[in-house]
Amino acid sequence: MAALFKARRALGMVVGHGFRCLSQLAELPELHQMMRQTCRDYAQKELAPIAAQLDKDHKFPAKQVKELGAMGVMAVEVPESLGGAGMDYLAYCLAVEELSRGCASTGVIVSVNNSLYLGPILKFGTEEQKKQWITPFTTGDKVGCFALSEPGNGSDAGAASTLAQQEGDEWVLNGTKAWITNCWDASATVVFATTDKSLKHKGISAFLVPMPHPGLSLGKKEDKLGIRASSTANIILEDCRIPLGNMLGERGMGFKIAMQTLDSGRLGIAAQALGIAQAALDCAADYAHKRTAFGAPIGKLQAIQFKLADMALATESARLLTWRAAMLRDAKKPFTKASLFSNY
Ligand SMILES: Cc1cc2nc3c(=O)[nH]c(=O)nc-3n(C[C@H](O)[C@H](O)[C@H](O)COP(=O)(O)OP(=O)(O)OC[C@H]3O[C@@H](n4cnc5c(N)ncnc54)[C@H](O)[C@@H]3O)c2cc1C
Repeated sequence: MAALFKARRALGMVVGHGFRCLSQLAELPELHQMMRQTCRDYAQKELAPIAAQLDKDHKFPAKQVKELGAMGVMAVEVPESLGGAGMDYLAYCLAVEELSRGCASTGVIVSVNNSLYLGPILKFGTEEQKKQWITPFTTGDKVGCFALSEPGNGSDAGAASTLAQQEGDEWVLNGTKAWITNCWDASATVVFATTDKSLKHKGISAFLVPMPHPGLSLGKKEDKLGIRASSTANIILEDCRIPLGNMLGERGMGFKIAMQTLDSGRLGIAAQALGIAQAALDCAADYAHKRTAFGAPIGKLQAIQFKLADMALATESARLLTWRAAMLRDAKKPFTKASLFSNY
């Protein structure tokens, strides 16, 4: 871990030098290999043994999130000047994949803090907002969340009905946000609300809201089929007052902020799914070697070998799609289509 700290400073030599082509990725750059191995070792040693129990108990892994903060993993892309690791999105995807391989909940906690919470503030925040809303969320002591979806609109994000009204020097927020990842354990959220519903998506703005906060309450935790150590619940806003300065970006810019954030967020989702798929493949291969039927391990049967080969091929293909999208993003090239592909 200490080596990662030292090495991350050297990353400036690796990132920002244009688009690396896939053939160059036959071997990852040294620092990326280090990030991958460090997260793989951590996931195997610290997360995999407790993942099932955390999931069963709906228990947020606070101690582990702090350790990941110390490793630079809670704010991979955030510059060192703001307390982050100063690395790129490929490094972030490698970290999320390896952590998800050991514990899918921890993978989603890391992913949401990095891409959905810190991401839009890093891109659209003022210098003052960055100091206040980013730096304390880089260490693993605090995590943030992202509140876009509503009970009445998910895919159709432009139809947001949460209302933001200006009263004196405050914004007053009213509405309900649905399915908000990490919200039970979060210390702040980016909230999307409309200042004028008749303007449809052009009326949406983004706001920074501390948690807990008067006028903000949480719904019950959803009992999902998995990733339950990461909470998912409603955020209810009832006359929730925040200073005018808590608007992120300009008035009416919220839809653009949300869409750009989701482009990057999809890469985190892809990396999580990849880690889970790799863990399933590892588990299946291990079982096929150990399980004996009719006097021989089932892994010796051609039908099982073909099945495992298909799984390995699908996993590796998904990995290349994910890395390609991350590399396009790192090279500041259009990556929306590539990020959508990484989710299929
Ligand atoms: C575990 C979990 C965590 C989440 N975390 C967050 C979070 O942190 N923050 C947040 O803001 N949201 C979060 N969400 C919400 C998530 O982003 C929404 O579920 C998603 O946007 C889809 O919205 P919906 O569920 O309302 O589905 P709908 O919008 O109702 O869509 C239902 C189906 O119709 C399809 N569909 C919709 N419109 C079209 C169309 N025009 N053409 C063709 N097909 C269409 C969709 O693809 C989908 O299959 C989370 C959801 C889950 C399940």
